[in-house]
Amino acid sequence: MTYENPDGVKIGLEVHVQLNRLKTKVFCGCTTDYHNDPPNTHVCPVCLGLPGSLPVINKKAVEAAIKVGLALNCRIEEHTQFYRKNYYYPDLPKGFQITQYDFPISSGGYIIIEGEDGEHKVRITRAHMEEDPGRLVHEGTIDRSKYTLIDYNRSGMALLEIVSEPDIRSPKEARRYLDKLRNILEYLDVFDGNLEGALRVDANVSIMGGQRAEVKNISSHKGAERALLYEIVRQKNVIRRGGTVVQETRHFDEAREITVSMRTKEEAHDYRYFPEPDLVPLKISGWAPAIAETLPELPDARRLRFIEQYGIKDEHAKALTSELKLAVFYEDVAGRVDPRMAAVWISDVLKGELNYRDLTIDAFRKEHMVSIIELLANNKITEDGAVDIIRTILDKGGSPEEIVKEKGLLKVEGDIVETAAQEAIQENPQAVADYKAGKEKALNALVGQVMKKTKGRADARTAREVLLRELK
Ligand code: ZN
Ligand code: MN
Repeated sequence: MTYENPDGVKIGLEVHVQLNRLKTKVFCGCTTDYHNDPPNTHVCPVCLGLPGSLPVINKKAVEAAIKVGLALNCRIEEHTQFYRKNYYYPDLPKGFQITQYDFPISSGGYIIIEGEDGEHKVRITRAHMEEDPGRLVHEGTIDRSKYTLIDYNRSGMALLEIVSEPDIRSPKEARRYLDKLRNILEYLDVFDGNLEGALRVDANVSIMGGQRAEVKNISSHKGAERALLYEIVRQKNVIRRGGTVVQETRHFDEAREITVSMRTKEEAHDYRYFPEPDLVPLKISGWAPAIAETLPELPDARRLRFIEQYGIKDEHAKALTSELKLAVFYEDVAGRVDPRMAAVWISDVLKGELNYRDLTIDAFRKEHMVSIIELLANNKITEDGAVDIIRTILDKGGSPEEIVKEKGLLKVEGDIVETAAQEAIQENPQAVADYKAGKEKALNALVGQVMKKTKGRADARTAREVLLRELK
């Protein structure tokens, strides 16, 4: 199967990732755990851009950036240097952002994603360090608000800007790329994706016959797919009407799910980049090997190990490693029961029930999963019973043992199934006649009756076997 990409869609993503697991900001000693605190309480002369203040590089931020670069298969440069990107905006009190330009810390990597037609690489152009600006807050919506408030708590947070080549061919692939990136960052323990503003996306989008537009302000990675879908349709319509798609910057209006033109695109030289005189070039040759030693097992490697070590299916291994917490949960359970059963019940059933309720794996205890799988493996409950237990725990709480007792879920066998089958046959002469006349489906109706009589505690396959025996 190959993907045709009929419109010639090309998407490149620039992802700003906050290294929010660091203790302090990138150029000052302010703490990074401001998310529950009042505005402007985690600030100092450096991150407020006051005259005379001088930045000092946070070594841990450099190490975290190298760690990410290595995990994204990038080359780590020997020297790296900071630059000033000059522009005015109220969230940037210095009038310039300290970022990187000619000598980014890492470049030339890739991420493997599940594409439209199987796995493929999305090349990473570069992943460079920079500081986060402050945050503008509006009363209500941005166009109705009478004033703008500024919170500098975020100012000076360490960011990594991860720029991809335009190797993404659909909004769905873009979502997969972002999921994969987020997954890798969480495995590296440099990033908490649940914090506000942790991952922000700008997208370059073009279709055949047009120039590329940059879509800014995609704040959630779920929003990215919708923004891209809209933008591609917009560009197609422009071309269909005989117009031209011009190079410009557009703003994604999340509430209305449309993109709006902001300005024709500025060029890099407009920013008057020049080397930051207050920070010396960093010589980091020799850092990478030691940091490489500390890299944890990453999602792809863990997935292959799960398949090998536990003999589970690729699709299950993929689902189980898609979130670090889920992978850890699985391994703990798999160490105590049949790992193949654990894979099926966690990735197919539990994950589905959690998603349906908008819950994470934190909502379920490992011990409970172990008990449920033991009950199943010892033939004490049916599969329907196991699903019932999982749902009951999520909705009302309780333990599998309590729920089995309360709901009477212990599987019935032998005489009870036999009696139920005999009753079902006596009470449904029409179904029996239909079955004997060759209507296979009539048997399903009788199985249904047996299940009803045993309150779902009979195994459907057993019920069928007993019925067939009785009907002979
Ligand atoms: Zn500060
Ligand atoms: Mn940037």
